[in-house]
Amino acid sequence: MSQPIFMVGARGCGKTTVGTALARALGYQFADTDLFMQQTSKMSVAEVVANEGWHGFRQRESVALQQVTQSRCVIATGGGMVLSPQNRQFMRSQGIVIYLFASATLLGDRLEACPEAHQRPTLTGRPIVDEMADVLAARETLYRDVAHHVVAASATPDVIVTEILQMLRVSAAS
Ligand code: ADP
Ligand code: MG
Repeated sequence: MSQPIFMVGARGCGKTTVGTALARALGYQFADTDLFMQQTSKMSVAEVVANEGWHGFRQRESVALQQVTQSRCVIATGGGMVLSPQNRQFMRSQGIVIYLFASATLLGDRLEACPEAHQRPTLTGRPIVDEMADVLAARETLYRDVAHHVVAASATPDVIVTEILQMLRVSAAS
């Protein structure tokens, strides 16, 4: 098994944290499409959206996905990566897709604890947990559809990595 592994899920579910630990455990490279976009565009998400709109942001996101994808690499994706059917098709056909599932409450708690790492243009000014409930309502089906495996994001990163390693071994053997 050397295919790329894609981590998908809503912002705050742990794609970057767990993806980094999983890459280390596998001896794989790690890439993060959000970070890659920031580095290549030299703009924050808010700046890209202000200058180019969400459409421009989504276009950059698809390009980033294709550019970072390589074998023996764990790729943490942006929360909205799954909105594009092309991105879903690309990830599913190129590698193994893992959905880190978390409730709106858990996501809200994590994002509140660490807001500066997750700045996005706020649309509503509503409580973050309500926003995350809306995000999940809109995307949950897409996350589940694209995923080869669904893993609960509520355990510690170490426990989640162990679980993923076991799943990968089982599916490689079958
Ligand atoms: P994502 O990349 O999916 O947006 P992050 O990996 O940046 O999510 O994690 C969001 C926040 O939640 C960070 O502050 C991170 O330290 C914390 N976090 C991530 N995974 C876990 C976990 N399994 N248990 C506890 N905290 C976590
Ligand atoms: Mg991330």
